[in-house]
Amino acid sequence: MATYEDVINLALRRSFFYPASEVYNGPSGFYNYGPYGASVKRKVVELWRKLLVQKEGFFEINGAIAMPEEVFKASGHMTNFNDPVTKCKKCGVFHRADHLLKEKTGEDYKEAMNNEVLTEALRKHKVACPKCKGELSDVSKLNMMVKVEVGVTPKNIFLRPETCQTIFTDFSRMIKTMRLKLPQGISQVGKSFRNEISPRQTILRTVEFDQMETEVFFDSQKIDEVENWQDVENYKVCVQLVGKDKVEQISCNDLHKKKIVSGKLIAYYLARTQQLYEAYGFKKENIRFRQLDDEERAFYAKEGWDFEVKTSIGWLELIANNYRTDYDLGNHAKGSKQDMQYVYPDGKKVLPHVWEISIGVDRTLYAVLENSLTTLNDKVVLGLPTSLAPLHAAIFPLVSNKEEITKKAKEVQKTIEYFDVFYDDSGSIGKRYARMDEVGVPYCITIDHQSVEDNTVTIRDRDTTEQKRVNLKDLQKIMHELIFVGKKFSEV
Ligand SMILES: [Zn+2]
Repeated sequence: MATYEDVINLALRRSFFYPASEVYNGPSGFYNYGPYGASVKRKVVELWRKLLVQKEGFFEINGAIAMPEEVFKASGHMTNFNDPVTKCKKCGVFHRADHLLKEKTGEDYKEAMNNEVLTEALRKHKVACPKCKGELSDVSKLNMMVKVEVGVTPKNIFLRPETCQTIFTDFSRMIKTMRLKLPQGISQVGKSFRNEISPRQTILRTVEFDQMETEVFFDSQKIDEVENWQDVENYKVCVQLVGKDKVEQISCNDLHKKKIVSGKLIAYYLARTQQLYEAYGFKKENIRFRQLDDEERAFYAKEGWDFEVKTSIGWLELIANNYRTDYDLGNHAKGSKQDMQYVYPDGKKVLPHVWEISIGVDRTLYAVLENSLTTLNDKVVLGLPTSLAPLHAAIFPLVSNKEEITKKAKEVQKTIEYFDVFYDDSGSIGKRYARMDEVGVPYCITIDHQSVEDNTVTIRDRDTTEQKRVNLKDLQKIMHELIFVGKKFSEV
């Protein structure tokens, strides 16, 4: 199994991701994605869009990142979006009090704990500044919103701390202009910002990050009316219930009947979300929805599940799933003085409830890389699912100094130009294979002397290193079956 260090080494070596503004030693908490990383990230988003947005008939919007203070007064972020911090009296650096305590004691200290409890614990365990061993101040709350200066308005402007606020504030417009009918999901992928005072673990805890979020709006009286229920009723969801130390596989039917979830709609989306992660290549034994207890849940949430995957650094939270009731629309209706109710054709009005699926894109990318990273014959292979591979295939002329071979190779490239392909004629063929295996390219197509004579090429499979010689006229069809139909290499 690959370790965190293995992933980071690969990421830096092949520029999947690396610190932002590196040449100026930029601030911590910001990361850039190079060509392969950006491509895999894009494909993580594309698969989400295909399986969880388009297939479910959700709307996808794309909103502005900067929003006025009123939004966050209504949402509660101005008062509630705080981290418990302690400041070093000697060097002036801020630290997360709960993180320092966890590092010192190994026990979980929740960020929701009050300042006095955390201060007392710091004193009791004699925690000092990790940088300079200086004395730490009492714990206080620091707001995590990132404020920006915008010239065109006197208003206070903040970068959104979560993409969902755009979805809530746009809801009444969607009702008016998009013939929205309940239940309806509205999705968005984009940047969010949080003033992390101790960014760490590379892309796992950053100031700027990508989210793909969906808010499913529904009539709370109709939470058990799910159109495609039969598609998931026997599908088993991996859940870890409050107070249990094991993950159980429970069918959607049982989740509903045993009242583990508030309604069928929630079981349905837990299933759909888990299916997306199975498509990302995670096995059921490595995933869980962890039920949140009263203390862990956000105060507005009636029910909450953290979706986590097992990694070398422990269970890693990738998705917050929350039943937010009508908290958000109610508050924005008050704050904006706009009507956010949904009106049925018979005139009946409801303020919709919300099921939220808030996915961290960067964390998902990390988990996908770690889950795919392996070694084969002592060489690093990134066994990404084909749908997430940064490139579909690489094209290699066996030698670069024979004109008829490079000419044939260019012809091959043209034949499959609508796939994501890469042409490489430098170095030995073994080195070229190794470079592509390491970044997760599933197929390598080689053009040799025989290709010039009989119009055939060889395709090599990344995961088995098996090779097949195929006719050039069949190549496009075979690539289509491998990449888009999902056929195995042994089947084509
Ligand atoms: Zn210090």
